[in-house]
Amino acid sequence: MLMRQEDKDILRKYLPESAVDMVAHAIVSNKIAFKITKARRTKLGDFRAGPRGTQTRISINHNLNPYNFLLTFVHELAHHYVWQHYGRKVLPHGDEWKRFYKELMQPYLDAGIFPDEIRETIAASVIRGHATDGADVALVRGLRTFDENKGITDEVELTKLLDGSYFKIANGRVFQKLHVQRKRYKCVCLSSKRLYLFSPIAGVKPLLDDEINNLMNHINLKKK
Ligand SMILES: [Zn+2]
Repeated sequence: MLMRQEDKDILRKYLPESAVDMVAHAIVSNKIAFKITKARRTKLGDFRAGPRGTQTRISINHNLNPYNFLLTFVHELAHHYVWQHYGRKVLPHGDEWKRFYKELMQPYLDAGIFPDEIRETIAASVIRGHATDGADVALVRGLRTFDENKGITDEVELTKLLDGSYFKIANGRVFQKLHVQRKRYKCVCLSSKRLYLFSPIAGVKPLLDDEINNLMNHINLKKK
């Protein structure tokens, strides 16, 4: 069975060109109901298995770079394989999931799809059987650096900002980075004055110069 050309053309917008046929084949041959969704802050992709005999649904966020989109797809597809073979009898990211993930990733690694700058990192994470859900720091960093270099994101890693810098997070709240504390960064939320500990690899948006000026004017007004 083949995927309709127009559906394949949609996939082409999100995936590395050389992966399109393989992914289309995987979707069709596994009878996956596949959806591209708006960005979700808590997850990159999602897998839903219905009762046995019903279609598996996989969704992926639209705003991932092509390599992350592919990794996330294979991650979710591995969940489908686990579900088909074991149902609920095993852990979601257990040995069975790792085995399928490795097996399913291998053709993409062999096909030379990934660019030099992230290939090693991806291959290493596949060998370790790491889930692509943020647990693999090297992978998160590799993919983010790729996004930054290509101008896909305006987020940077918190660790790259100087102490004292102001930044925003996805929900719009503004923080100031204070200092490192046991491998995490202590930051203060400017509106609530509460302190928070951030992971060094948290993706944040540094405030632009005029945003900082507005902020300073606001603080000065309050002091008067
Ligand atoms: Zn997962």
